[in-house]
Amino acid sequence: MTNKNKAYNSFTVAQSQFDRVADMIELDGASRELLRDPLREYSFAIPVRMDSGTVQVFRAFRVQHNDARGPSKGGIRFHPLETQDTVRALAMWMTWKCATLDIPLGGAKGGVVCDPHNLSQREQEQVCRGWVRQVVKNVGPSIDVPAPDVMTSAQHMTWMLDEFETISGSKAPGFITGKPVSMGGSLGRTEATGYGVVFTMREALREMGVRPDKTTASVQGFGNVAQHAIELYDQIGGRVLCVSCWDQQDQTSYAYRKPEGIRLDELRSISDRFGGIDKEKAASLGYERLPGEAWLEQEVDILIPAALENEIRADNVERIHGGVKIIAEGANGPTTPEADLVLRERGTFVIPDLLANAGGVTCSYFEQVQSNMNYYWEKDEVLGKLDVKMTHAFLGVSRLAKQRNLYMRDAAYIIAISRVVQACHDRGWV
Ligand code: NAD
Repeated sequence: MTNKNKAYNSFTVAQSQFDRVADMIELDGASRELLRDPLREYSFAIPVRMDSGTVQVFRAFRVQHNDARGPSKGGIRFHPLETQDTVRALAMWMTWKCATLDIPLGGAKGGVVCDPHNLSQREQEQVCRGWVRQVVKNVGPSIDVPAPDVMTSAQHMTWMLDEFETISGSKAPGFITGKPVSMGGSLGRTEATGYGVVFTMREALREMGVRPDKTTASVQGFGNVAQHAIELYDQIGGRVLCVSCWDQQDQTSYAYRKPEGIRLDELRSISDRFGGIDKEKAASLGYERLPGEAWLEQEVDILIPAALENEIRADNVERIHGGVKIIAEGANGPTTPEADLVLRERGTFVIPDLLANAGGVTCSYFEQVQSNMNYYWEKDEVLGKLDVKMTHAFLGVSRLAKQRNLYMRDAAYIIAISRVVQACHDRGWV
């Protein structure tokens, strides 16, 4: 997280996005009050005996924003700058995301204030087990189902699953998603979010009459979402010219550029498991190294922010090149409301986060379905179903946007909020 984006409170951003659409659809007062804050939230401490023998206490959170449409669902992130408000925002965005995709799930999110770079495997395992112990009564296959997010992996999910099953005394693979395939995970889950970003980009390009193999892109981030988005974008003929990532050693971000196009396999071979690229090795492979924000100044057709929230702001939005046609939000909340206004006025085609990066939760839903059936689909079947679901959601949002001359984000929000409000009405909550 950069210092600049710390100035933005993601929850304030999420609430202002909600308020804007609530005004547009003239939402009643009770529904507004219910939906602009989480239904439930837990804030707790996880004491861990460190390898040194001392005890360190980690702050952690779980926020369940709304579960009118089904069990709540959302990842857990490990981040040294994690705050309860960030988790609240992410939980709210999960509610809208599940509703945009018409998945029968609510929205939740979790977090632990920690930096796994500085923790041994054993210490990370203790953080995971401690997290489950603190919320075990309030999560579960039919209550709230966690998943991986920034700096958490399939290994973390397995430790959490094991702790949950040990405490509950029964096997419950549907407790968590993002599990390794050998533990009841879904094939295709690793690729799902990044591929989903590209499914929506492909549809946007189709509507614009632009062939993907005639386009170029610049990507912020080189983690799970970014790498898989680049992989599929490569396959449909696109060319990525620049990627940026966080440099743990220098505590800043850098952008790596090759005018003829970056090579995914090459950069993968010199990146760590947190999506950080080795700058010396990148230089030896002929990559030009630029300040981190250079990713958004590139003369490309498509920008894919796939790192953290609040990265496109009023102070840098004007640096986006005039030729950029599409911004596909791989990250959650990468654009602040002020920057969003500028993009809206410019007529940039923004594929909003709640649609563009919904491939992850869609595949998590598929994982839950498979875990509950104890019958697992082939990878092609998973990715085929994912494509159908993402394309269908994209077309629904874009149809509404065209019919009512709306910005894509507003159209997606209108669909999502209306579905959640309907479920709340049906249950007699409001
Ligand atoms: P990740 O931890 O695998 O990768 C994050 C990447 O961002 C790393 O390459 C890191 O170096 C980079 N980064 C961090 N700070 C940066 C900065 N200031 N400038 C440039 N790069 C920076 O995380 P991920 O799973 O790829 O998630 C990325 C985003 O996508 C997050 O916003 C996450 O909430 C969202 N998301 C993830 C999923 C999923 O399935 N993984 C699903 C939906 C949304």
